[in-house]
Amino acid sequence: MVGKETMLINTPIYQIDKGNNNIFIKREDMIPYSFGGNKARKAILFFEEIDKLQSDFIVTYGSAYSNHCRIVANMASERGIPCQIIAPLSQHGEDSYNSRMMKLFGAGIETCPVEEVHTKIESALADLEKDGYKPYFIAGGGHGDIGTKAYIECYKEICDFESKSGQHFDYIFHASGTGTTQAGLICGQLLNGDDRKIVGISIAREESYGRGVILESIKEYFRNHFIDHITAEQIDHATIFDASCIGKGYASREKELDDTIAYMISKKGIPLDQTYTGKAYLGMQKYLQGHNLQNKNILFIHTGGTPLFFDYLNELC
Ligand SMILES: *Cc1c(COP(=O)(O)O)cnc(C)c1O
Repeated sequence: MVGKETMLINTPIYQIDKGNNNIFIKREDMIPYSFGGNKARKAILFFEEIDKLQSDFIVTYGSAYSNHCRIVANMASERGIPCQIIAPLSQHGEDSYNSRMMKLFGAGIETCPVEEVHTKIESALADLEKDGYKPYFIAGGGHGDIGTKAYIECYKEICDFESKSGQHFDYIFHASGTGTTQAGLICGQLLNGDDRKIVGISIAREESYGRGVILESIKEYFRNHFIDHITAEQIDHATIFDASCIGKGYASREKELDDTIAYMISKKGIPLDQTYTGKAYLGMQKYLQGHNLQNKNILFIHTGGTPLFFDYLNELC
């Protein structure tokens, strides 16, 4: 990344399938920083704030597999700012390409039991301030208003593509985790006033919890930005969080997931991973079948995670 200028992001959108439905993909994995992905789009905005505040120590949270922690550690190392990662103890010692890169970037990794994460973060920040640092905390996954804003911008890119190409998308699908990506897309949609469907495929959370976090993120963003013309009913109507692919019969799904990932790289040249994008792509196909959707224009957002594709490949062959 050159200097401290805002990077102009406009990731490619192109068609990958013409079957029952026309499927397009938006390649967020091609954001040109540290293997890209939605965490790169969010982190670019977080670091604009960090540069402005002249913070000199980054603290964040995430596991050994976290794309977010890899990118934050990379951006901190680029600036010569120390980065401390608080990681849940349950995954201590696990090795991944993301965790290896975190080490390469010189990030400190400190583990603690999940229940103690909050206090651990508070005390780390207090200690740093006592030592004369100006620490900046980035929530796990880049959660919060800045992360939401990043995906409002992504939504604008999609609308720009549509107005330039004359192509309209009836549905947008993507992997939904902490919910910030989905919250941003939905904020973008509500501000734009259109009525297509944005479907977040849950990669872990149960429906009521996951959906609740998204609703709260949207409301918080609007509150903090004094946007009051959008009603709770509109927000509720726009938020579709599909958790039907999690938690049941994981073992029986594994082969389907393998097949999806193998097909997408072999036939389309697109790497998907087993935690996020592979699950979301499979979840999208099931949603289209389950809702009997035909002749629709569909946009799948590839949210990144390429290092996880290689972890998967190591296990596969
Ligand atoms: C974090 C992540 C997601 C989920 O994004 P959220 O904003 O946390 O919902 C999806 N895909 C990839 C590759 C990710 O790293």
